Amino acid sequence: MMPSVKAFAYLLILALFWNCKSKQQQLEGIQPSGDIIATSDFPKTVTPKKSERPKGMPAIPDTTFVDLKNYSTDFVYDIKYATTDNFLKSQVYECPECFLRLKTVQALMQANQDFLKLGFRIKIFDCYRPLDIQKKMWKIVSNPDYVANPAKGSIHNRGGAVDITLVDSAGKELDMGTAFDHFGPEAAVDYVNLSEEVKKNRKLLQTVMSANGFTVLRSEWWHFNLNGASNYKISNEKWDCR
Ligand SMILES: [Zn+2]
Repeated sequence: MMPSVKAFAYLLILALFWNCKSKQQQLEGIQPSGDIIATSDFPKTVTPKKSERPKGMPAIPDTTFVDLKNYSTDFVYDIKYATTDNFLKSQVYECPECFLRLKTVQALMQANQDFLKLGFRIKIFDCYRPLDIQKKMWKIVSNPDYVANPAKGSIHNRGGAVDITLVDSAGKELDMGTAFDHFGPEAAVDYVNLSEEVKKNRKLLQTVMSANGFTVLRSEWWHFNLNGASNYKISNEKWDCR
């Protein structure tokens, strides 16, 4: 009798110990989310309204730099400064990424939703630009007509500006009259000697962007500043290339 009671107690202790150990192993398998900016745990296709945060998205200040790709898959990317296809003829970004302040991302996503309803979507040429990159560009072209002087910085350095155009449902760019970073009077939004189609396309871009809190730069049809973004600090925060 006694040996079987002992054996039963022994088995019970062993089972309890095993259960504890496996729970410990489960807990050890859960990794902390790590750096807010670089995490890939963010929902991919959420469209948060201004006042609400998608389920599972950590509460972070809306001035935090975030990766647009972690918030939406609805954009088309052509990050020109990560290639040599730009007016500098020089690749100044190591890799094509679009980081912006969270508030800029939210406003941009809302604008894109409006464009999607009309059969278009935003194509992105440039987003946040670290100050060191601005200095690099200034070194290549030290002309304030083409590059913002890093001593003053630009809204790109503050995470509140985007350079964009529109593409149709087939991915074809709408005719905006000039290429991105065309430096000439034709790039100005008020330039009159443009076809009716170009005027209509530019107007569409500006109307929807301004309804979502952005203001176009009058000399560049592609450049939009989030209203109030001039209050953001100039930053030199950099992203890791994946
Ligand atoms: Zn710009």
